[in-house]
Amino acid sequence: MEPDRPLPHPITPEAKPFWEGLREQKLLLPKCGACGHVFFYPRVVCPRCHSRTIAWIQASGRGKLHAFEIAYQAFNKAWKVKPPWVLAMVELAEGPRMMTNLVNVEPDPRVITCDMPVQIVFSKLTDEITLPLFEPVR
Ligand SMILES: [Zn+2]
Repeated sequence: MEPDRPLPHPITPEAKPFWEGLREQKLLLPKCGACGHVFFYPRVVCPRCHSRTIAWIQASGRGKLHAFEIAYQAFNKAWKVKPPWVLAMVELAEGPRMMTNLVNVEPDPRVITCDMPVQIVFSKLTDEITLPLFEPVR
């Protein structure tokens, strides 16, 4: 089946563990070995203390909805997801925020609320790419 959206091209070495983890249904986040800061997106240096000692932790896959928007039309023809869909900024339990889609929920502002608890859904698009999407915790 053809993917319903443009695929990321994870070519940077600093992001490789993130994508490999998703393929194994694990959400891995970079954690600074010097100051302990957990961050996203993956970088070669800690955004807090600039240390280059970066380790990886397995995140819980849980968090809360920080912000969202409901999109009613696509502005890129490569995007084949049928509208409306929910663009979401999720604040992970480990601290960092991640841009994603909220799925398995009615795209209705009366149903979706900021700070609602959410959990990860691993969405396998190809053998190479699995995306971290989120759904409400029921
Ligand atoms: Zn640090």
